[in-house]
Amino acid sequence: MVTDPSDPGNTDAAAPADPTEQDTPREECGVFGVWAPGEEVAKLTFYGLFALQHRGQEAAGISVGDGSQVLVYKDLGLVSQVFDEQVLASLRGGVAVGHTRYSTTGGGTWENAQPTFRTTAQGSGLALGHNGNLVNTAELRDRVVAEGADVVSTNTSSPANGCDSATTDSDLVCALLATHAVDKGIEQAALELLPTLRGAYSMVFSDESTLYAARDPYGVRPLVLGRLERGWVVASETAALDIVGASFVREIEPGELLAIDSAGLRSARFANPTPKGCIFEYVYLARPDTTIAGRSVHSTRVDIGRRLAAEYPAEADLVIPVPESGTPAAIGYAQESGISYGNGLVKNAYVGRTFIEPSQTIRQLGIRLKLNPLREVIRGKRLVVVDDSIVRGNTQRALVRMLREAGALEVHVRIASPPVRWPCYYGIDFASRAELIANGLDMDGVRRSIGADSLGYISLDSLIAASEQPRNRVCAACFDGEYPIPVPEEDRLGKYVLEDPGEGAESAAAGPAETVLPSGYGAEDAVGRP
Ligand code: SF4
Repeated sequence: MVTDPSDPGNTDAAAPADPTEQDTPREECGVFGVWAPGEEVAKLTFYGLFALQHRGQEAAGISVGDGSQVLVYKDLGLVSQVFDEQVLASLRGGVAVGHTRYSTTGGGTWENAQPTFRTTAQGSGLALGHNGNLVNTAELRDRVVAEGADVVSTNTSSPANGCDSATTDSDLVCALLATHAVDKGIEQAALELLPTLRGAYSMVFSDESTLYAARDPYGVRPLVLGRLERGWVVASETAALDIVGASFVREIEPGELLAIDSAGLRSARFANPTPKGCIFEYVYLARPDTTIAGRSVHSTRVDIGRRLAAEYPAEADLVIPVPESGTPAAIGYAQESGISYGNGLVKNAYVGRTFIEPSQTIRQLGIRLKLNPLREVIRGKRLVVVDDSIVRGNTQRALVRMLREAGALEVHVRIASPPVRWPCYYGIDFASRAELIANGLDMDGVRRSIGADSLGYISLDSLIAASEQPRNRVCAACFDGEYPIPVPEEDRLGKYVLEDPGEGAESAAAGPAETVLPSGYGAEDAVGRP
């Protein structure tokens, strides 16, 4: 059975207080699972999700299996907003699944929060959390409809897709898994279902007593296994293992299904691995204190900065980062160039999703909601400003203008990733192709558009070299357009493939390149965004 004490009536997507935040790539989701009977699994999951908050800030949820039932609690908001002592104390059991969500398929509504839940015909519960994005969602929806698989759901929405309630790719998988588990059990059903999924998926799911974890054959999104003294943990990032005191055991292999219960840990291969890890995890998505495929994210970012300085040197007085994600690359740039490093921008650490609709007056503040210049540091200086990426360019345009107004003599922008020219279908929400500034302009065009004195992006070769991954084992499709997993036309609709696109249609269309070059302090970033 499922108990969901949170309020499903709250279906409004949270409004961002900082419109310029929407000019950055949006993380996908964070997943966490723990099997540790006798431990406070809900609390462990809470702290695991807390460490993964950067991967999704729209919703959070935890399911707990106690041997006889599965309880799910989820709601819109940050992990610390959704859960308190009382709620966590009510979630008792030996196995838990946690999820922090940013919507990559399905809008940011309560119904789409995870873990998603289904009951099998025998009344057994199944809770599932998913990081990544499938690219055969339309096909899976048709299967769910054909098989009548959308069994018992907690969802209440009525999307216009002919499928009773599933509004996310994850929900479809949960429905199919619950249906197929009737005859063969969840483990066998998963081994048969997983090879039919296309796209990126790092999934954690459980019934009343067993924890499962699966990673797509390309291993696009990270997923790691950790050991507790009396149990096991799986998580999107190693940093989440650290925070709950779990030791890193290994990565879950691409094409591997793990099952953990009182019989121990079982591993099975459901597909041959063809590793294509997301290179953008190193640039921006993952925490700096995480290690992916044996390589420290922080060290990668510092190395990117060094290589960037070699590729695009600058005559300048001071290197400053755009905090926080630009910081390690700025340190590397300063080390390599010999130019002094300093903090010229102060970030408001508490800017996030506040659930407060910003007024038009507040929207006009744009970037100043997030970053404020240290005038005494900047005044009279030739600056190198290091940022992680440029998506639409509005943030950088606002930033350059703000730094000049604060007294900078010159502003040289250096970017720790190559130009983003293609959308991601594997779980990262960039702008639509038409909105990507580098899709419509060459480098000098982008430089002029953002108003910088000079501009340099790290080359793709150098980025990959900094990650220390073999070229043929990474996905870099948003930079080079080479998608390792083919994307059917109908799945190129993006996150609203299962829903009435409504406002999202505008950004979902991957139309021909058109450059949108509004001006101002980044406030215009909010226009036309889902
Ligand atoms: Fe990562 Fe870009 Fe590939 Fe998406 S397209 S998985 S963001 S490298």
